[in-house]
Amino acid sequence: MEMYKTSKGRELIIYENNEFTLRRRNKTSNVWICSLGGHNKNSTNCPAMLKTNLTNSQIIMKESMVSHNHLPHMEKIEKRKLMSGIKDSAEKARVFARVLY
Ligand SMILES: [Zn+2]
Repeated sequence: MEMYKTSKGRELIIYENNEFTLRRRNKTSNVWICSLGGHNKNSTNCPAMLKTNLTNSQIIMKESMVSHNHLPHMEKIEKRKLMSGIKDSAEKARVFARVLY
């Protein structure tokens, strides 16, 4: 899991090659929806979402993770990683995933 900020200052996280944007903050968790869900531009009405703790350091719940209704956002994510100056991110993401689970 990696965190980014968009050029507009919106927070997003990348998990398993998909982007999630912050939907809302609860008292104990942040709720993220797939960037192709909701009313976002280019939305496919993807139902995938997940919750993290308030510091976004840990995923505390994931729902519908297997039911993205589109292919992973590889191309978009690679572009964002390049823009963020992270070059070894693919390998890093795998390491992160192993640590978290
Ligand atoms: Zn999705």
